[in-house]
Amino acid sequence: MQFDNVDVPEQGEPIEVVDEENDELDIPETPIIPIIHGDGIGKDVGPAAQKVLEAAANATGRDIAWMRVYAGESAHERYGEDIHLPDDTVNAIDKFRVAIKGPLTTPVGAGFRSLNVALRQTLDFYANVRPTYYLDGVPSPMKAPEEMDMVTFRENTEDVYAGIEWEEGTEEVEQVRDFVEDEMGFDETMHDGPIGIGIKPITEFGSKRLVRKAIDYALEHDRDKVTLVHKGNIMKFTEGQFSEWGMEVADEEYPDDEVFAAPDSLWETQDEIDIPEDAVMVEERLADAMLQWMQLRTDEFDIMAMPNLNGDYLSDAAGAQIGGLGIAPGANFGDARVLAEPVHGSAPKRAGQNMANPTAMILSGRLMFDYMGWKDAADLVGEAVEETISSGKVTYDLERQLEDAEKLGTDEYTEEIIANIEKLS
Ligand code: NAD
Repeated sequence: MQFDNVDVPEQGEPIEVVDEENDELDIPETPIIPIIHGDGIGKDVGPAAQKVLEAAANATGRDIAWMRVYAGESAHERYGEDIHLPDDTVNAIDKFRVAIKGPLTTPVGAGFRSLNVALRQTLDFYANVRPTYYLDGVPSPMKAPEEMDMVTFRENTEDVYAGIEWEEGTEEVEQVRDFVEDEMGFDETMHDGPIGIGIKPITEFGSKRLVRKAIDYALEHDRDKVTLVHKGNIMKFTEGQFSEWGMEVADEEYPDDEVFAAPDSLWETQDEIDIPEDAVMVEERLADAMLQWMQLRTDEFDIMAMPNLNGDYLSDAAGAQIGGLGIAPGANFGDARVLAEPVHGSAPKRAGQNMANPTAMILSGRLMFDYMGWKDAADLVGEAVEETISSGKVTYDLERQLEDAEKLGTDEYTEEIIANIEKLS
């Protein structure tokens, strides 16, 4: 594959796919990993994460051949014209399969698709995955934040992300209204006057592959439960159907002693249901109630799988319970490919000031290592971050919420984590 404006590092080897369906990759000792540092604070946290991840790889006997690729403002600077997502970047992530990115500023302007959405959709990263777990020493509004240890799987390609909507005042929106009223019989449902209309597609294909991914993750990581979160009491044929298709996956595609599809009556009769020991239980809950249970019965939840919009709300709410944006990691999973990225955006006001907290991007790298099967390196990253924060050495965003903490700049905090990697390995 040709790259026009970026170099493929000579010393590394590409990660090859062994079995796409089962996410099986062959990881060389020095894999080529594309990295986008990102816009705004990406310029601070991108290089910081790169250093920490490299230190953890080295400490566990490996190396990484980083391939710098560009998107957002940095792509515009390098490639010129109106290029914000160059083919080089898409092709590198496509070819090398495992990649990490910092936040990107979405250029403001009519018709500009979010670069993040474009990247996720072009390369079919259909599951947005966010682990939410407590790190000792992080300030939290909860009484027992340590009870939180969840991973959310949010569908990434349909529901509101399909982007099918029509603007008020257009000929198209009136055509859709006429069709829905005259042809589909909803003639008394919509008020007269200006209207906006959107369509919420939820397919069997999209729902099942997302739930399958969540169940496989639960099995691989020795988790107890997968909760399907939906609003099927109101949106029966979309959200409700998502849940039914998800339950079908649990029921039909795995042996009962591995994955147990809980019946609807589970809530009332929990004690009487015989759940096979060691099986991952798959249950379903309504999204509104779930936001409440997540706070009141935090320790009961484990892996959550849901359509796009529910996932948007729920994963941010979960993140807030354990310390918020500066530390919340994420990744996008496709078939045998991953693009790790922090949850936060480019926070332009803090950019280039050696202030931003790189933890979210570092922990996104931890998730990437975990995906690659580099469990020891992943654990080392997690332990070194926790050791640093629990010793009271933190960036400004955490320092202002803690008593007696020492405020470090991005670079000094990064050095501290690297020193802890060396100490702990
Ligand atoms: P944001 O996440 O960039 O910032 C919100 C606030 O959170 C900031 O003011 C800052 O105080 C704080 N914050 C976020 N990350 C932090 C960190 N690592 N360290 C310390 N403080 C941190 O959200 P926004 O202001 O809504 O968005 C800014 C830009 O980022 C927009 O262009 C938006 O489109 C983009 N964005 C990108 C992504 C992504 O690339 N995945 C995600 C969200 C937003």
